[in-house]
This record gives sequence, C-alpha cells and structure tokens, in this order.
Amino acid sequence: CGIVGYVGPNDTVEVLLNGLRRLEYRGYDSAGIAVIDEADQVSVRKRSGKLARLEELLEANPVAAKGTGIGHTRWATHGGPTDVNAHPHLGDGGKLALIHNGIVENFAELRGEVEAAGVELLSETDTEVVAALVGVAMAEHGDLESAFRSVVTRLHGTFTLLAMHRDEPGKVVAARHHSPLVVGIGDGENFLGSDVAAFVSSTRRAVAVDEDNIAVITPLEVRITDFAGNPVEFEEYEVQWDA
Ligand code: GLU
Repeated sequence: CGIVGYVGPNDTVEVLLNGLRRLEYRGYDSAGIAVIDEADQVSVRKRSGKLARLEELLEANPVAAKGTGIGHTRWATHGGPTDVNAHPHLGDGGKLALIHNGIVENFAELRGEVEAAGVELLSETDTEVVAALVGVAMAEHGDLESAFRSVVTRLHGTFTLLAMHRDEPGKVVAARHHSPLVVGIGDGENFLGSDVAAFVSSTRRAVAVDEDNIAVITPLEVRITDFAGNPVEFEEYEVQWDA
C-alpha cells in the first residue's frame, strides 16, 4: 500500500523506516524492507502488523545497510497478512528483492510458468511470482533493468513495482501501471515513492513518473523510459507540503 526506495550515502534503514512512517496514513497490515548489507547480500526484514513490530525485529536483528534499499507497507489482496506473505519477496536465489502495490491479475498462469522453471515459491502472493519471474529473466537478459522490463510488460492488473539486485548495488528500478510512482531527487541520493510523503522530509524536488513508464535511480542519476525502453523526458517540480 505504501512504497519507498532509496539509493545514497545516508542511513538506509532509517530513510526507509522514516518513509514508511509517513506512508502509514494509507493503512496497511504488514511492513518490510530489503537492503544490500555489508556482506554485499540482500537482507530482508519483514513482519505482519504495525511498523512498530518491524522496528522491534530490526532492534533484535539489526542490519547494516550499504546504501541501497526498498521498503513496503502491504494491504493484502492475495494471501493473508502473514510474515511470509509480507513484502519484499526474493528472486534469483535470494539475489534480488522486489516490492509491489496493486494486483497481478494473470498471476495464476505466471505461477505455473515459474514452477515449471523449478522455482520454489514460499508465499501465497501474486507479488512473489513477479520476483521469481524477474529472477528467471536475469539469466536470459543479464541485467536487472532488461530483465525487469521483460517481465513488467507481461503483467496484467495494477502495479507499482520496485526491484533491486545484489550484483547491481546502488540501483533501484521501478515501474507503474494504473498505480502511482514518484521520484525524489536529492543531492548525491535519489528516492522513489508511491507518493511524495515517502521522501518529503529529505527532498522537495520530485518527478511524477507517467503511466507505463520505468524509472531507474542511482545516487547520481535518474532515468525514465517507456515499457519498450525508449528514453522519456521528464521535468521536476517542487513539492508544496508542510511537513
Ligand atoms: N497484491 C499484493 C499482495 O497481496 C500487494 C498488495 C498491496 O498493494 O499492498 O501481496
């Protein structure tokens, strides 16, 4: 229900939690984050219930992040509000993490394809199928953005999707289809959000990503393309908000 992404030098876990706190007003039943940790692996912490439960988990089992992360608050549509069904979900043998707002309508068919490819799914969500598909597509496409694009164009329904991969630290890719996505532009850091609340305490420079576009952020760059991969020009605006 709420989405935040971050690449930059600041305390990634704190940036993600702060974004999720500001998105709490939207309502949710679970929360989670994924970061690239100090061992250069994807680490996930997620829990059903309130953000306070995720914060407790992070206190008991902290993670040192290296500056790339995604955070999610879930409003369950496929699979109950359990720890396992909470986002992020993993793909590519745990090298990739993905979060999703919305519904993937053709997920049953895609699930069959993923299982035929030998991937074992842990949750009941439509989202994990997408994470698994992007993971499978990595072998063919070789890089996260191409793999992500090849899968996004096959999804029916509504989605804001964010993904990151261990082998491409300092990058988060995102797509939207009938669901909102905004980029926040910082100084040596960039953000993604389902709305500007996700990053407004850090920057007021924003870019509204248009329908059926893909955004790629690194600490120093924001790029937007359409689903076919053609570059899209964009303009930033100043968020008017009394934070
Ligand atoms: N359909 C997904 C799920 O049930 C995402 C729900 C959401 O928008 O939070 O896990």
